Amino acid sequence: MKALSAELAQRREASLYRTPRVLESAQGPTVRISGKTYLSFCSNDYLGLANHPKVIEALKEGTSRYGVGSGAAHLVTGHSTPHHALEEELAEFTGRQRALLFSTGYMANIGTISALVGRGDTVFEDRVNHASLLDGALLSQARLQRFPHKDIDALERHLATHHDKRKLVVTDGVFSMDGDIAPLPDLATLSRHYGAWLMVDDAHGLGVVGNHGAGSLSRHGLNSDDAPILVGTLGKAFGTFGAFVAGDEALIETLIQKARTYIYTTAIPPAIAHATRASLRLVKEEHWRRRHLEKLVKRFRDGARQLGTTLLESATPIQPLIIGEAADALSLSESLKEKGILITAIRPPTVAKGSARLRITFSANHKSGDIDRLLETLQPLL
Ligand SMILES: *Cc1c(COP(=O)(O)O)cnc(C)c1O
Repeated sequence: MKALSAELAQRREASLYRTPRVLESAQGPTVRISGKTYLSFCSNDYLGLANHPKVIEALKEGTSRYGVGSGAAHLVTGHSTPHHALEEELAEFTGRQRALLFSTGYMANIGTISALVGRGDTVFEDRVNHASLLDGALLSQARLQRFPHKDIDALERHLATHHDKRKLVVTDGVFSMDGDIAPLPDLATLSRHYGAWLMVDDAHGLGVVGNHGAGSLSRHGLNSDDAPILVGTLGKAFGTFGAFVAGDEALIETLIQKARTYIYTTAIPPAIAHATRASLRLVKEEHWRRRHLEKLVKRFRDGARQLGTTLLESATPIQPLIIGEAADALSLSESLKEKGILITAIRPPTVAKGSARLRITFSANHKSGDIDRLLETLQPLL
């Protein structure tokens, strides 16, 4: 495999090589790596539920009642009481008729897009949409038309000139690497005007923004008529694992019949669904988690401004510090690590060339003092 080794060497040369770290502790504001403790600002556990005692307790209860593996796909014998109950609760939470569980967000996206469109149709996607949304469009064999980030006028020009059978407009609710929120009211209006369906992947919005954490659509008072297809993931703010699609009866029944990543895969462990029910209750009831996050974000943004750094326009717990070159982002990340702070450098192709960054994220389990330590440590390094 010489050709591969050469390619790998090239990647390393360009500071684009990636390696997983081995965490020796649970996910949280502090994590242990190689016996050393770090203050961490790079998980998606926004509400701090991944290691919450009530969620852990529910997982234990779930395994004692339902065992570990689901043993089959949903349509065979893998669909059990906690899956069913969670689907009903997620439908209620998102204000939609139905919800359908998928094993991961990646699978929900590729399965949904390719179930809804195909050859002769067009998918319109924001240029910085999550990789799974782009892959879904590619796999569907529909035409993929990307538009510049949040550029409504460009989208309108494309919508006006494509006369395909079906049109599907797809966007992240909260953009995963930038933290900004999609122009959802405009996207909904345009989609309706041009007879397109709007699909919103709210992996980073659900639980975090909107009323009771109901997500970026609810923040704008938009519903199922405005965006008929809503995708949520359970491995981020919910702190567990899995994903779902929420929408009306016809959408969900179509996905059950046609989404290959729903049909041909093992259902998530029922105990995970049981634990997610416990985490959903915390998401809905513990408003202090969202309020505390807002305070942390404000403290960070105020402090960063005083340091003279430019931040992106983001009101969410995703607060990227744009560095530019991959090598510079990597070396800043390493300097922070030496001082006990963990923030991964996000580099191309995850983000555009020249926009490598430290993707700083906050969790409801961070304390104000953690933000101060981050700012103090960053100051001499910027
Ligand atoms: C993380 C993420 C996904 C994938 O979800 P998984 O459950 O981790 O596979 C999909 N879309 C967006 C926007 C994400 O950030």
